[in-house]
Amino acid sequence: MATLLITHPCFVDHDTGPGHPERPDRMRAIDKILAHDVFKELTREEAPLREDVEERILLAHSAAHLEKMRAIATGPINGTCHIDGDTVVSPGSWEAALRAVGAGLHAVDAVMSGRAANAFCQVRPPGHHADADHAMGFCLFSNAAIAGLYARAEHGAERIAVVDFDVHHGNGTQDIYWSDKDLYYGSTHEMPLFPGTGATSETGVGNIFNAPLRAGDTGERFRDALESRILPALHDFGPDLVVISAGFDAHRADPLANLALVEADFSWATEKFADMANRHCHGRIVSLLEGGYDLNALARSVAVHVKTLMDVGA
Ligand SMILES: [Zn+2]
Repeated sequence: MATLLITHPCFVDHDTGPGHPERPDRMRAIDKILAHDVFKELTREEAPLREDVEERILLAHSAAHLEKMRAIATGPINGTCHIDGDTVVSPGSWEAALRAVGAGLHAVDAVMSGRAANAFCQVRPPGHHADADHAMGFCLFSNAAIAGLYARAEHGAERIAVVDFDVHHGNGTQDIYWSDKDLYYGSTHEMPLFPGTGATSETGVGNIFNAPLRAGDTGERFRDALESRILPALHDFGPDLVVISAGFDAHRADPLANLALVEADFSWATEKFADMANRHCHGRIVSLLEGGYDLNALARSVAVHVKTLMDVGA
């Protein structure tokens, strides 16, 4: 079985305005590196615009939030419209947001049915800061949280784990998964840093596992945080599906944060998550792109992450 890569040309049409770090060139940089021969065995499919996408968004978000996003993103926009200081939409954003969610749903269908070994969703806007009721931090809908809840609703996966190595804490995913013991959320992230959440004391109903890191920490501390906290808890949880919030802004070259990870740390983490997925759920992994704002570091990091998924899924 192959690894599935899901993306769509419309993701470059989500225009965040001049100087915004979460920009269309992120997709172009990843497209370019994934065109290399090394990736010719990938199964490539377009992120769909699904009829059920709004129903699935409501698995994680309030109807009021869905309607607010629709009203803003499909309303008259002259260029770009700021939802908050960081979160921007343009006329192309609504389709991009729906296809970003749709990519996760499509990946879940493929992986849960055994059609693909695992999947990577190359999408924007990202998702892990959007909580049940709010867009925030470049995110409109919580793509990863929705994918997990959909696997439970439609594919009989009882226990869903989202692991998140983006340098920012995924406050939105944590919020959505907070009070359900059959949903696991585990995150490494820099603290203090946006959005300000992610302390070890935030534990939900014993299902939330935060492992904050400090500015300047290298891959050694990152690996230790995974091995001492995130992975043992994931093993005890026993997931039926592992969803990865794959942000690459903990890379040492990233301009938005101050951790010092390198590509090898992302491939190591991917291997560890695959090991857990192999032990508990036939290797089922759905990975979704979150952050990563240095174009070269982003592209190289995505490349090692996807290559590792290919190697473990072969
Ligand atoms: Zn981030």
